[in-house]
Amino acid sequence: MTTASPESVRLAAEAILDGLCLPAPWKILDIDWTPGSPTPVKVTAGPYPREVVSAYCDPDRPWPETVARLASDLQDHACEVHWGRPFPPCPGHTHPLSTGVADGVAVWECPVSPRHHRSPIIQAGTP
Ligand SMILES: [Zn+2]
Repeated sequence: MTTASPESVRLAAEAILDGLCLPAPWKILDIDWTPGSPTPVKVTAGPYPREVVSAYCDPDRPWPETVARLASDLQDHACEVHWGRPFPPCPGHTHPLSTGVADGVAVWECPVSPRHHRSPIIQAGTP
C-alpha cells in the first residue's frame, strides 16, 4: 500500500505526465511539501521554464484519491496549455479520459462508459 511522500508523489506525477500523451514532454520542476497547510502538496511542472503550472493534492487523503486529484489537476492545466486538445485522448472518442478511483486504484477512464476504456494511472509494478 503506497503512502504519500515527496518521493511517491514525484513518481506519481511522472506517471501522470507520461500517461497524458503530451506533444512535448513536461518536466517536474518542484514538489513543495507543507503538511497542515491548505495546499499541502504543490507540484510545479510544465513544458518550458517560462510556462509552468501548479497542481495540488492532499497527502492525508487515501493514496488513490491523491493520485486521481493530482492527475485531474495536471490534466486541466495540460489541456489549457495545449489549446484545449484532449489529453489523454479517449481511444476512438473525441473527448479526453476522466480521472477516477475504481476498486481502490486511481484510473483514467472514458467519461461516457468506463467499460469502453479504463486503465490505471500508475502502471502495476511501479510504486
Ligand atoms: Zn470515451
